[in-house]
Amino acid sequence: MTLSLIELVKNMPKAELHIHIEGSLEPELIFALAQRNGVELNYPSIEALRAAYAFTNLQSFLDIYYAGASVLLTEQDFYDMTRAYLERAHADNILHTELFFDPQTHTARGVEFGVVVNGIQRALRDAHAEWGMTGGLIMCFLRHLSEEEAFLTLEQALPYREHILGIGLDSSERGHPPEKFARVFARCKELGFHLVAHAGEEGPPAYIETALDLLQVERIDHGVRCTDDPVLMQRLALQAIPLTVCPLSNIKLCVFETMAQHNILTLLDAGLVVTVNSDDPAYFGGYMNDNLVALVKALPVQRHHARQLARNSFNAAFIDHNLKQKYLAQVDAFFAQ
Ligand SMILES: [Zn+2]
Repeated sequence: MTLSLIELVKNMPKAELHIHIEGSLEPELIFALAQRNGVELNYPSIEALRAAYAFTNLQSFLDIYYAGASVLLTEQDFYDMTRAYLERAHADNILHTELFFDPQTHTARGVEFGVVVNGIQRALRDAHAEWGMTGGLIMCFLRHLSEEEAFLTLEQALPYREHILGIGLDSSERGHPPEKFARVFARCKELGFHLVAHAGEEGPPAYIETALDLLQVERIDHGVRCTDDPVLMQRLALQAIPLTVCPLSNIKLCVFETMAQHNILTLLDAGLVVTVNSDDPAYFGGYMNDNLVALVKALPVQRHHARQLARNSFNAAFIDHNLKQKYLAQVDAFFAQ
């Protein structure tokens, strides 16, 4: 019984909407790129680097995340990183993926904006040509930096406007509330970008509300702490605001102690548009299907939950009506089998 449900969630068609492409860097690739680029790492071996992945909160994770990203210098590096992720996504039956990238992590090191975007974009183009996979880029502002720096990054992004689907907000949540970026998000909205923001992961449910009201985001990344506020939960359900939930990430960063305590089924049963995603899969213990399997093993997931998660992933995606209908029909056909 459980086995068949595991096969079901692995094989079902799905979209991924919350993946930081720099968070897909496996220790092996970090070492290979460091060697190719002559970058000195503070870790003597792949094993030592992997051992350092035993962080316990968002900040200690971010410290190693930025160290890992330091090996990315050329367009080919960004291509190779993205390609490695897309191959895993394809193997997990992901048909559409929206990738977060953090340009400020790279431009601060002297890597040009175009190098980042062109490398990632070329890998997406190849995945589309080879497998028909669709996708796009969501540029994130690092919220521990200033709004002024976000405005500067937005300027740098404008020549690449056609390659950027939306704007997001990530990095250290606590102490950096959404309202810090109200003006730059207003500008992004004027420019016609889709808008999302991380909120209610380590930060309070109030950050979810301000992300909706002041930043006018269309999706909330994480948002699991909304269960602390029943009125907010009702609003999220009523307005069908998608939450991009990342189960393994939540356990690794101690948002929940165990997967059995995760609130994803509570959210799903309350009618919220919940999706499952991998966040930073190289660092948090797994890609899309690893997340789904972990849920099935720890929680009373039913077949109808799986179908709803698959449908939600496409309903929450930034794709046009026709493509959405095509993907939803594929989900329905899969579950009709
Ligand atoms: Zn994230």
